[in-house]
Amino acid sequence: MRIKECYPGDILKYPLSQHIGESAVPVVCVGQKVCVGQKIAAAHGKISANIASSVSGYVTGVEAGKEITVKNDGLYTVSDGYGEKRNIIGTGKSEILKYIYEAGVVGMGGAGFPTHVKLACKNSDKIRLIIINGAECEPYISPDFTLMVAESSKILSGILVLLKLFENASAVIAIEDNKKEAIDIFLKKTRHIKNIRVKVLKTMYPQGAERQIIYSVTGEKIKMNTLPQDAGYMVCNVATVKAVNDAVCESKPLIKRIVTVAGDAVYKPCNLIVRTGTEFIKLIEAAGGLKEKCEKIIVGGPMMGKAVYDMNHHVTKTTSALLCFLKDEVSARACTPCIRCGRCAAACPNGLVPLLMAEYAIKNDYNSFIKIGGTNCMGCGKCTYVCPAARCLTQMFTAAKRRIAEGRI
Ligand code: SF4
Ligand code: SF4
Repeated sequence: MRIKECYPGDILKYPLSQHIGESAVPVVCVGQKVCVGQKIAAAHGKISANIASSVSGYVTGVEAGKEITVKNDGLYTVSDGYGEKRNIIGTGKSEILKYIYEAGVVGMGGAGFPTHVKLACKNSDKIRLIIINGAECEPYISPDFTLMVAESSKILSGILVLLKLFENASAVIAIEDNKKEAIDIFLKKTRHIKNIRVKVLKTMYPQGAERQIIYSVTGEKIKMNTLPQDAGYMVCNVATVKAVNDAVCESKPLIKRIVTVAGDAVYKPCNLIVRTGTEFIKLIEAAGGLKEKCEKIIVGGPMMGKAVYDMNHHVTKTTSALLCFLKDEVSARACTPCIRCGRCAAACPNGLVPLLMAEYAIKNDYNSFIKIGGTNCMGCGKCTYVCPAARCLTQMFTAAKRRIAEGRI
């Protein structure tokens, strides 16, 4: 499958915080020439990630704590060593982790957690199953499916890298049953590989979160206070695994990703290969433009994505989709008082009681919110979706969790 490349435009902007953890620190200055793959911001602190330029050109702006701006010279001159092939036979664990760290790889399923930190878990010998997450369960978005079809060999190569890090583990590629083409490709490719298998999952939402996919694959329920790693599981999204391959085997930092551009306000919905730093409007142009009245723009999937007001944003390592809709159906629904129907509690995949959480969040009673497990909400949006009173439950929980995390309680 050939995927169209998106023209990145003349001006690219790289937010310094496109991962969970501390912002990266600029290592370039205004006027400096940069090449494709060159580090422009360095990881800072224990949980952070490097950021590399996705084009060649000149740095035109550096705002510490915010972003770096690069003017594209259109030449795409690569940095020294970029794209050099490496043979991983004989490569040690610490070297592999160093390559992943240098390349600035983060969880590309949306979380953005620095991958070198996740893979450097203390009990690596206890990991018995690596779950390669190909369960792309949100409607509209398909970058992972597209990647699985287009780059299966690189994903498999990335899995072999992970198996080197966790020598007591086998790997399973978990794909939902609505992605038949990807299933067929991986079934064929793994036929003769003993420690990699394919698990076909029933399509459902949500299934991509770590605990959900572990349950779907193994039937084991991981308690909220237990890390999947401590239970012997390592879950990695397919795009992250491909980025691991690129970092370790091809000396390429994470500077490109597949982004879905879709929604009824887009003329030609498509999947695009996009350089990080690209302004959203370039994606829209590549997708044939926007229809006249677009009421809603969402970055990410319709369930867990974030609404934005305009196209003045840039693609980061975790931008999976840009969805544009003619009608803002969510805002059009009038919110009414809770009728205590209990549908939200029945729908919550984490066994939470959203109606109670909402009560506490409204009262700013964050201690009670925490007590009933409110911080275990993963923001899947299912409670909001089923609520007949159209209450913005997920949004309340996201705001409450932010306040708690910032200590504003
Ligand atoms: S689904 Fe909505 S109306 Fe029903 S109990 Fe939950 S919050 Fe209340
Ligand atoms: S968003 Fe709602 S359904 Fe999803 S985890 Fe949070 S409380 Fe549960």
